[in-house]
Amino acid sequence: MADSATPRYTSIGVLTSGGDAPGMNAAIRAVVRAGNYYGLRVYGIHKGYHGLLRGEMEVLTNRSVSETLQRGGTFLQTARSKEFMTEDGLQKAVSMARVFGVDVVVVIGGDGSYRGALDLSKRGLPVIGLPGTIDNDIGNTEYTIGYDTAMNTAMQAIDKLRDTASSHERCSVIELMGRGAGYIAHNVGMACGAEIVLIPEKETDFDRDVLKAMLEARNRGKKHYIVIVAEGKGDAVEIAARIEASTGIEARATILGHIQRGGSPTLRDRVMASHMGVRAVECVVQGRADRIVSVQGGKVVDLDLQEAMAMTKTISEEELRVAQILSL
Ligand code: ATP
Repeated sequence: MADSATPRYTSIGVLTSGGDAPGMNAAIRAVVRAGNYYGLRVYGIHKGYHGLLRGEMEVLTNRSVSETLQRGGTFLQTARSKEFMTEDGLQKAVSMARVFGVDVVVVIGGDGSYRGALDLSKRGLPVIGLPGTIDNDIGNTEYTIGYDTAMNTAMQAIDKLRDTASSHERCSVIELMGRGAGYIAHNVGMACGAEIVLIPEKETDFDRDVLKAMLEARNRGKKHYIVIVAEGKGDAVEIAARIEASTGIEARATILGHIQRGGSPTLRDRVMASHMGVRAVECVVQGRADRIVSVQGGKVVDLDLQEAMAMTKTISEEELRVAQILSL
């Protein structure tokens, strides 16, 4: 219940930062529409922290966000700003928010963007974090906006690669994004029935887990192989060369790269982004800033910023056990 000590915020800014992710537009739209619903003034800040410290922002109305829900990328654009990481840059960002009368900044981005948000909050500018990254590598949430679309994009691409790998009796080594985490690779591996999945969360003995496993499978009559490697675990080109040199099985490398970042967001990303955007605004309306919107036990919640930043997660033993049963 609000009392006289509860801050009353009337104006928010929303920005997207770091790598773009499908569903960011759905999140911006939800922030704008919920903000307007509750009578807040909502500024769209262009190009992440870069635009904040330069005052590149404009008021967004419900009309400004029509036709954005189904679009990939982020119409506010995103950036990686080195200047923002300096004390001078941070001070500029805080004063620019004051110039425009922005009380709270909603930051949609990954863990780097969250660290920037924490820096702003420590300098007196309240923030709300919304998890937006295809990598799902944020420790304080089970789910990040863009993750589902990226996995579906990768799955569809690998299904196509399997057709050609099987026609030529080849090994296809596919490198997937995920930064230091293997969430995308792990799930896409399971969804595509990959023979081998290499992720940072699982130790690999290359001779035993890759070469020997492939040779034994070949001796049982297997004709083609899908090997998935998370970018944080290794290099597809190098792994394909090693497989071919050691086993004689023809191996081709594919790096899916930024293909995984594009495209229209899936239903799941649109719905999750919509719920999270509304939650962010409702925190502001209730005078609760310096929160991180998160998914816990499948539900959208909000957490204290400082506490959330200390949280970690990893792929569970159970997940790894199931994948192990189904692998080569
Ligand atoms: P993704 O994981 O999807 O790429 P991200 O948010 O982790 O997203 P980063 O490039 O790490 O992407 O961060 C985005 C921006 O946040 C940076 O350009 C910088 O301005 C700011 N930032 C990153 N790390 C920090 C940090 N340690 N302290 C302050 N600001 C940071």
